[in-house]
Amino acid sequence: MTNLMVPHEEHSPLQHTGLGEGRIEVICGPMFSGKTEELLRRVRRAQIAHQPTIIFKPSKDTRYNKDQVTSHDANALPSVTVQSSEAIVAYLRAQTKPITVVAIDEAQFFDADLPRTCAHLADQGVRVIAAGLDLDFKGIPFGCMPELLALAEEVTKLHAVCMETGRPAHFSHRIAGGDNTVEIGEKDRYIPLTRQAFVEARKQNPGEEPSAS
Ligand code: ADP
Ligand code: MG
Repeated sequence: MTNLMVPHEEHSPLQHTGLGEGRIEVICGPMFSGKTEELLRRVRRAQIAHQPTIIFKPSKDTRYNKDQVTSHDANALPSVTVQSSEAIVAYLRAQTKPITVVAIDEAQFFDADLPRTCAHLADQGVRVIAAGLDLDFKGIPFGCMPELLALAEEVTKLHAVCMETGRPAHFSHRIAGGDNTVEIGEKDRYIPLTRQAFVEARKQNPGEEPSAS
């Protein structure tokens, strides 16, 4: 049989016609790497293609307005704040028209069921775009992210600019605040660093556990 599929343009939501091309895309990286910007870019393109979209974010993320997702660049789109992955399913079930693109920001703050929920949605034909921190401030894989990364068809790792060296940064170093894994903050609390700068910076916090090795 002839293959009628057109070549796949990477990241192009226009290839996702709403005809049931379910998949999981994960956008990850440290703080300030442009994850939210990239999520918003993909959602906007899906909207240009007239695809019904919803952006969810966890109630743990108390920065900015609770009714929108905002990047550090002050880019924003309306969003729905939910407590859990179960609440995402309940919200989608309550919609009168089918949603073909589901975007989830700050995915690392969700419960352990999020990867399974995303896989279930993708199985049903939904394009799931999840953005989140791959590592916590100690350099340890963050919450449900490893499983989500494993289940995803496509993973985009972004880098921020290292505040010590100006090079691509993969780590989010906490410069103020306690030792809890979840500590909501901005530039006052976190700076992106390269591995080398991160290792050096962590040596100056002798009271804390070393990062995962
Ligand atoms: P994330 O969601 O990954 O935290 P955002 O998409 O919200 O990131 O913000 C990315 C924006 O943050 C960049 O476009 C830039 O304007 C700004 N920014 C501030 N500090 C940095 C940095 N150290 N490296 C890269 N971008 C930075
Ligand atoms: Mg973000």
